[in-house]
Amino acid sequence: MAAGNDRELEEIRIEYLGRSGRLTQIFKNIGNLEEGEKKSIGLLINESKNTLQKLIATQKNKFKETAREWFDPTIPGEAPRTGSLHIITQAIEEIAEVFKQIGFIRMRYPEVDWDWFAFEGLNFDKNHPARDDWETFWLNAPESKKYGTMLLTPHTSNGQIREMQREMQREMQREMQREMQRSKKNLPIRMINIAKCYRRQSDISHTPMFHQFEGLVVDKDINITHLKGVLDYFAKAYFGKGRVTRLRPHNFPFTEPSFEVDITCDICAGRGCRLCKEGWLELAGAGMVHPNVLKNGGIDPKKYTGFAFGTGVERVLMMKSGLKIPDLRLLYSSDLHFLGQF
Ligand SMILES: [Zn+2]
Repeated sequence: MAAGNDRELEEIRIEYLGRSGRLTQIFKNIGNLEEGEKKSIGLLINESKNTLQKLIATQKNKFKETAREWFDPTIPGEAPRTGSLHIITQAIEEIAEVFKQIGFIRMRYPEVDWDWFAFEGLNFDKNHPARDDWETFWLNAPESKKYGTMLLTPHTSNGQIREMQREMQREMQREMQREMQRSKKNLPIRMINIAKCYRRQSDISHTPMFHQFEGLVVDKDINITHLKGVLDYFAKAYFGKGRVTRLRPHNFPFTEPSFEVDITCDICAGRGCRLCKEGWLELAGAGMVHPNVLKNGGIDPKKYTGFAFGTGVERVLMMKSGLKIPDLRLLYSSDLHFLGQF
């Protein structure tokens, strides 16, 4: 190594040119010489000293060059550790993009909301048994006379009423402008709400915090074929070209009629296999917005109709990727060994 050579060179320099080096010693003894010899010996010593110094300097430079050549810039460096988006964040961005393609706008609504927006406004009576299916976190906060108790949103459906009310206000403004302009425009809502939801649940397949996405369309002459078209579009865009959906009658308080949405199994393409049994997998809940919900959103159900659909982000992600997560809680555990796989 260069360092070792440098040291040897320094030893040589000290041996000959150092304070008690050989040449220095000879120079010190020059006084003992005869007058005639002094000058020629002195010159000789100086010459030797200069030559030696030059040689040492040259050698030193050579060592430096070798050291520089030893550095090989072609050897790959060590890459710094980089982070990445959480797998659920990636899924949310993908879903948002799919719906953006057909004109849905992604909206955000409160995650802490009133009972009225999460239940009552959605046509759940105060004692409706279906409320028990939403294992709700209630907040210990002062109640509102109009809107009831505060809660952590147990589903994304509170966004339905919130969006309709806001849209109605906008519509009223537009109506006034229209009156002035004597031109006619409709109220279209095309909203996608992707948000965190909270329920009192925690086991292998449930987390107290999870994500849903929910679409809402309200306009004149909206019917079930529009709903079916959007669901089929999503099935193809997100899961793949060959996939289609079917609607099965169901019951939700906030839609009428209501459906459970199935998607064809990707393994058997709907023919039926060991995994899916009958060819279909449960994908989402959906339906035509209940007239009471439209009314509660400030929209005249005689003039407007709409559809809504919703499902879990974690659910569609696992269905799409075939990902088997041994314990869903791992997703939110901040365990980099687990999350780093995706
Ligand atoms: Zn199958």
